[in-house]
Amino acid sequence: MTDEYEVATADDARLLPPGQWCLDATGTVYCLVDTHMGFPQRMAMSKGGRGFTALDNIAYPLHLADFDGECEHRWGANEMGHCRRCGQVSHDARPTHFDAEQMRVFRLAAEHNKRVAESGDPS
Ligand SMILES: [Zn+2]
Repeated sequence: MTDEYEVATADDARLLPPGQWCLDATGTVYCLVDTHMGFPQRMAMSKGGRGFTALDNIAYPLHLADFDGECEHRWGANEMGHCRRCGQVSHDARPTHFDAEQMRVFRLAAEHNKRVAESGDPS
């Protein structure tokens, strides 16, 4: 049985309004927020706003949830203004852009991480 509050895929999750809370298939709580670290992306913010996971890397289906209680937005916000506690846009957006040198460093880091993942050798 599928209930109407179930979200089957990452593409479906991208259609939800930003600030939507959900439980993934493992029971992990996330808030779907907009991010901009170099480029715009909808991501899953962990409870407390400390971690962000790509929508393709969380377990589906999702079940929609509501943030419980009031929030005074005192925990700060991500670069798109989403409160780290309740997920609502509560601050001004300050998208992060990278210059060519920063992008070069990111590419090197990504290539390094890929080598480590493939070989299991962190050197
Ligand atoms: Zn808040």
